[in-house]
Amino acid sequence: MITAIYPGTFDPITNGHIDIALRSARLFHRVIIGVYAFPKKEVMFSLEERVSLAREAMKGHDNITVEPYADLTVEFARKAGAQVMVRGLRVSGDFEWEFDMAMMNRRLNPDLEMVCFMASPQFQFLSSSILKEVARLRGNITDLVPAHVVKALAEKQNGAAMGNNNRN
Ligand code: ADP
Repeated sequence: MITAIYPGTFDPITNGHIDIALRSARLFHRVIIGVYAFPKKEVMFSLEERVSLAREAMKGHDNITVEPYADLTVEFARKAGAQVMVRGLRVSGDFEWEFDMAMMNRRLNPDLEMVCFMASPQFQFLSSSILKEVARLRGNITDLVPAHVVKALAEKQNGAAMGNNNRN
């Protein structure tokens, strides 16, 4: 049985991430989406929110689960009994970072194989950060994330707007 982890920040999960998870789940017996607790970048959603949005997105896909983690990714993989780590590659600059990370992870655990999926053309330009920027400016994001994520983003924006009003 081959288990793959698909680690990331997922702040929040997008249709690009979901596409990679579903494609992985066709190749591997079990896919565990690992939501990293302490990313260096600033996040909009708490760890619990990121996990819960990803779980909702993966409902009905029995071989895909979502788990938070706070260790090194190779440690998370070891604890999960995973042989494979999945990542997604977009044209715009993912390769160099992924390559460096892969080299470091290989050093830390030579048995963990990294498999990269090319992003599907319709999601090449989609990143959580661009998505959040478009959502902030009230652009249409309905084709880019599931409905429950659209709602969660709107709630965050409204919360932020209320905060601003209270300060004025
Ligand atoms: P990280 O902070 O680890 O890059 P992300 O949540 O941004 O976490 O992304 C997790 C993984 O999903 C990364 O491998 C990233 O390249 C990939 N990914 C992100 N967006 C897309 C997309 N639109 N299409 C394919 N892969 C994507």
